[in-house]
Amino acid sequence: MKRFLPLGALAAFLLLFQSLPFTALAHAPASCLPPYGYWQQRVDYQMEINFDVTKHQFKGTQRLVYTNNSPDELTRVFYHLYFNAFQPGSMMDVRSQNLPDADRRVGSRIAALKPEEQGWQHILSLKQDGKDVLYKVEGTILEVQLQHPIKPGESTTLDMKFEAQVPLQIRRSGRDNSEGIAYSMSQWYPKLCEYDYMGWHVDPYVGREFYGVWGDFDVTIHIAEPYILAATGYLVNPEEIGYGYEKEGQAVKRSNTGVLSWHFKAENVHDFAWAADPDYTHTTYVRKDGLVLHFFYQKTDYNEGAWEALPRIMNRAFDYLNAHCGQYPYKQFSFVQAGDGGMEYPMLTLITGERPLRSLVGVSVHELIHNWYYGMLATNESLYAWMDEGFTSYFSDEVMNFLKAEGMLPGMKPEENPHLSDISTYTAYIQSGAAEPLTTHADHFSTNYAYGVGSYVQGALFLHQLKYIIGEPAFERTMLRYFDEWKFKHPTDQDFIRVAEKESDMELDWYWQYWIASTKPLDYSIASVLPSGKKNTRIELKRQKPMPMPMDVIVHLKKGKTLRYTIPLRMMVGEKTEDPKGTRWEVLPDWPWTHPSYSFEIPVKTKKILSIELGPAGRIADINPDDNLWKKGDDSK
Ligand SMILES: [Zn+2]
Repeated sequence: MKRFLPLGALAAFLLLFQSLPFTALAHAPASCLPPYGYWQQRVDYQMEINFDVTKHQFKGTQRLVYTNNSPDELTRVFYHLYFNAFQPGSMMDVRSQNLPDADRRVGSRIAALKPEEQGWQHILSLKQDGKDVLYKVEGTILEVQLQHPIKPGESTTLDMKFEAQVPLQIRRSGRDNSEGIAYSMSQWYPKLCEYDYMGWHVDPYVGREFYGVWGDFDVTIHIAEPYILAATGYLVNPEEIGYGYEKEGQAVKRSNTGVLSWHFKAENVHDFAWAADPDYTHTTYVRKDGLVLHFFYQKTDYNEGAWEALPRIMNRAFDYLNAHCGQYPYKQFSFVQAGDGGMEYPMLTLITGERPLRSLVGVSVHELIHNWYYGMLATNESLYAWMDEGFTSYFSDEVMNFLKAEGMLPGMKPEENPHLSDISTYTAYIQSGAAEPLTTHADHFSTNYAYGVGSYVQGALFLHQLKYIIGEPAFERTMLRYFDEWKFKHPTDQDFIRVAEKESDMELDWYWQYWIASTKPLDYSIASVLPSGKKNTRIELKRQKPMPMPMDVIVHLKKGKTLRYTIPLRMMVGEKTEDPKGTRWEVLPDWPWTHPSYSFEIPVKTKKILSIELGPAGRIADINPDDNLWKKGDDSK
C-alpha cells in the first residue's frame, strides 16, 4: 500500500523529524530517512502516581502533549483502558470463555474475580488545553470529544486525573503472580490509541496484541519504601532512592515518610511498563559498549544458578543481535521476573523466573529479540502479529543456535538447521484444516491454535524461506536495512517486502500473496530422472499444490561432487546467484507459475548420479518432502 500526503503534511513530517529525540538520530545517516509520504503521530507522557500497596490501587495525574502529524484534522481522540478487561462480563472474559482452545492462564478466571480482585481504571477529570472535555468509557476504550480540533501539524495538551485498581494477575498485568512477585505493571495507565494512515486503532482489549504512539515518557511512582522497582526507561534519581541502583557498599538513605519516589525517563518508546517487589535481588552487567543490563529476580535455591549465569549469556545474545538485526540504541535493558511467562516491553521484559538455565535463557532470548521487532520496529501487532512473533521466533532459533555453538549452554550442541521443527509444526497445522491466512486480525482468529502456529511458526518460516528465495547475502542485507530505515516507526508488511525486493532485485509480491494472504500449501516433487541420449540426464519436476516457489536442485555425484541449479519463478524477474559460504548456483530458465511441470537436462550420465535433492529438505515448507529426494535406482523399482 502506498501512502500519499499533501505538501502541508510533508512540512508536518519535517517538524516531527526535527522533534525526534537525540537517541533516534544519533546513528542515522541520510539513507535512513523514512520513505516519502510516511508520517506518524507523537505523544509525550508525564505521569505521577501515588501507589497504595494495602489496597492495590493508585491515583494518578497524566499530562499528554499530543502532536498531530497526520494530514487530517482530529475532532476525537481515544485511549486504551486495559485494566477494565479484568472484570466479569468484559469482552476479554467472554472471548476467553467462547474460544474452543482458550489460554489456560485466562480460561474462566476473570468471571470468578471478586470486586477487590478486579481491575479498573476510572477517569476523574479530563481537560484539553485547560478546558473540560466530554468523554465516555466503553469497556477498555475511552472516547474523547475534543474541545477544539487538532489541525495537521498542531499539538494539544490533555490533562487527566485517574485512579486504578490492579487486578489479581491473570494475563500479563496484575498483582501476586504465580511466583509471588507483587506487581507486574504492564498496560497500567490510560494509553493513547494510535492514529495512522488507516485511521484510529481502537481495538478493544481481548488479551492479545498492542500498538502504541511513539514518544517520551516521564514517570514518577510514589510507593512504600520496601518495594524495589524495575521499569522501562532510566532511573533519574538513584541517589534519592538509595538502593536498587546503588554502587556496592554505598550507604542507603531512608526516607522519613516510608514512601520513595521513583522517577523514570524513557525517550522514544511506545509503551512504559514496570514491576515492583520488596524481595527483588538486583544485579547489573556492563557490556564493553557501555550498555547496562539489569536483572531483577527473587532468589531461590532452585533459580539462583540460572540467574547468575544469565548476564554473560545475554551479553553474547546482544553481540549477535547488534550484528544481524541492527544496533540496540538505548543505554539500558532489564530482565525482570514478573508476569505470566514472557512478555516484551520497551527496554525491558517481564518473565517468570523459576526456571532451569536452558528455559531461562530461551525465554530471555525470545523476549529480548522482541525489543527489535516490537520495540523498535513497531509494527501494528494486531494486523501483523507474524512480523513481531514470527520474526522474533526465527531469530530466537538463530540466537539459541549461536549460543550453543559458542559453548554458552553447557552440554548443548548447535543444530545444522534450527528451523526444522517449525516445518513439521506448520505441516501438521496446514493438514489439520484449521489454518487461517496471516492477514487475519490477531484478535479474530477462530482458535488460539491458528493464531499461535500462524503468527509464531508460519511467521518464522516466512523469513526462513525468504532466505532460501533471495539467498543469504541479500537476506542479511534486508534485515539490517529494514532496521535502519524503519526503526522508531510503524512498518507494514509491504514496507518489509519492498526492502527485500530492493536488496534482492527480485519481485516478491507473489510470496506475500501465497504465504501471508492465503493458506495454499507448497508441494513440489521429482517426477522422473531418465537418460537422454548417451551423455545426458533429463529431470522432470512437478508442482503438486498451488503455491509456487523457485526450486533449487542439488545433484550428488560420486566422490562428494555436487551440481547446484536454481530455477527462478518467471514472475520474480530475478534470481539468486549466491548463498551461504560462497555457494554458487547455476541459473536455469524461468518456471512460469501457470505451468505444473518443468524439465531440464544436465550433462551427466544418469548412472553416475547418486541422488537428487529438490527444495532441498529443510529449506522450504514442502508439506510432502518424501518425493523431493530421488536416489539411484528409484526409477528401476
Ligand atoms: Zn513473543
